[in-house]
Amino acid sequence: MSETIFSKIIRREIPANIVYEDDLCLAFKDVNPQAPTHILVIPKKPLERIDSADNEDKALLGHLLLTVKKVAKEAHLTNGYRVVINNGNDGGQTVDHLHLHILGDRQMQWPPG
Ligand code: AMP
Repeated sequence: MSETIFSKIIRREIPANIVYEDDLCLAFKDVNPQAPTHILVIPKKPLERIDSADNEDKALLGHLLLTVKKVAKEAHLTNGYRVVINNGNDGGQTVDHLHLHILGDRQMQWPPG
């Protein structure tokens, strides 16, 4: 996998507003928020996208979702929130390092754009 801005955030080579970290993942505020609360959860393992994951990543993917829940609770998103994973071009993915968007503190619409 090629180097991305998120690998640099993991290595603290560029600044980010980090809200959670453990041995497997990192969560930080999105620099261009699409909702009053917009946080990204990323694995430290350099997976490009959900399509790059396989059976050996099962536990990691579960961990990422449980981290979403933990981070959302810490952000007081008690009225609900949206979790988004953009995968590839048509999915609108712009950074090739798997990330889960947590969007909250406003009413979401459906269908998404
Ligand atoms: P996606 O379009 O799903 O690939 O989402 C990439 C997200 O990363 C976008 O919401 C960007 O605003 C966000 N982003 C890009 N660079 C940074 C950065 N340096 N710090 C925080 N968020 C970033």
